[in-house]
Amino acid sequence: QTQKPSESLNIVIVGHVDHGKSTLLGRLYADTGSLPDGKLEKVQAICRQQGKEFEYAFLFDAFLEEQEQGITIDTARTFFNWKGRQYIIIDAPGHKEFLKNMISGAARAEAALLLIDALEGVKEQSKKHGYLLSLLGVRQFAVVVNKMDLVGYRQDVFDGIEKEYREFLGQFKAVPECIIPVSAKLGDNIANRSANMAWYTGPTVLDQLSRFKKEAAQSEQPLRFPVQDVYKFDARRIIAGRITAGKLKVGDHLVFSPSNKRANIRSVEAFNIDPPPTEGYAGQSIGITLDEQIFVERGEIATHQDQLPSVSTAFRANLFWLGKRPLERGRKYQLRVANKEVDCEVATIHRIIDTMDLAQQQGSTTVNKNQVAELTLRTKTPVAFDLSASFEATGRFVLVDEYDIAGGGIVTELIHDDQEFL
Ligand code: GDP
Repeated sequence: QTQKPSESLNIVIVGHVDHGKSTLLGRLYADTGSLPDGKLEKVQAICRQQGKEFEYAFLFDAFLEEQEQGITIDTARTFFNWKGRQYIIIDAPGHKEFLKNMISGAARAEAALLLIDALEGVKEQSKKHGYLLSLLGVRQFAVVVNKMDLVGYRQDVFDGIEKEYREFLGQFKAVPECIIPVSAKLGDNIANRSANMAWYTGPTVLDQLSRFKKEAAQSEQPLRFPVQDVYKFDARRIIAGRITAGKLKVGDHLVFSPSNKRANIRSVEAFNIDPPPTEGYAGQSIGITLDEQIFVERGEIATHQDQLPSVSTAFRANLFWLGKRPLERGRKYQLRVANKEVDCEVATIHRIIDTMDLAQQQGSTTVNKNQVAELTLRTKTPVAFDLSASFEATGRFVLVDEYDIAGGGIVTELIHDDQEFL
């Protein structure tokens, strides 16, 4: 590898099992020269020894095992470099926590590749993934129709899949950047334009990756610093957390919501950084001390005073339910938003959408696994949050049903608590 790229982009590759995610990734690593020297030959030699045909998927699996040594977070991240940008693959194949990571925000994808097997065609899973990407706010994605070699590289097969999938996506106004016919196994239209599909004139997979846009730098947004913990250290209180948007510096006047307590930043404390910084930016985990002894708690959001978050005991949301038992109106759940944990209940289920066939239902009092619901949630005490359209991290939440993350979603509308909503 030459120099370290200046920019990175988080991408996710989704698709039905066996449609070729590992193969595509193995190919991307190999074709971008991102494998350690000798790796390809080593895996090929092992395949020969074991009398198996070489697979790019094995290459990726072997690579993943190595990179994984050192990974402590709950989602597997690997990366490759291409034309001055680093692509971080969140949720590599084999990690089944994709949906939970997506809805809990543990894995924030800036762009996605959605894989469809040309021989199998559009499956229920392909539909579900397409819908969820859109629901979860992944706005840039490309569809990759894989295994074109198995259908004789025929344009009519590709056109049929393209038409069917575009129609499906159109139902919820999702538009892919492009739909690319490939063979991950043989390398058609991955790095190199395929001579087998001269009828296709769009970008290759690597061209398309380069075209995905980086999201606006989050440090340019208004400040959001959700409090994760408060430590007493000597005589000082250190307020620790991760800045999810914006920036802060020593001397800034902060407001903590929902308590509305206020103080100025006396110092910024970062672990293992010497001398300590005087500023903090989106993405950093830091601690701060204040010039006044105010009592703030985990789950409050610190902001500047002219850019406060919403504070309420009710909001409207889109929720995706994964729970073993159905979500029920009126039952008690634990809500986690920013770092706040609070009891809540579902006040109203406005509409339910099945992620498989997009059938809609009104008037239901329960939400089943794999359904998406538009609903109103009511919390026991006021919480601070944002609309998801404005702030990614503080606009999403999870619902916990007896210790299990059973659902997650995004806040779509603030409801003032004096408003009649039942
Ligand atoms: P995953 O479950 O989505 O990660 O799928 P894999 O990458 O493991 O691929 C599943 C099977 O499909 C493997 O046997 C691959 O060799 C095969 N496969 C993947 N891509 C292609 C392709 O482009 N053409 C052909 N003929 N087979 C492929």
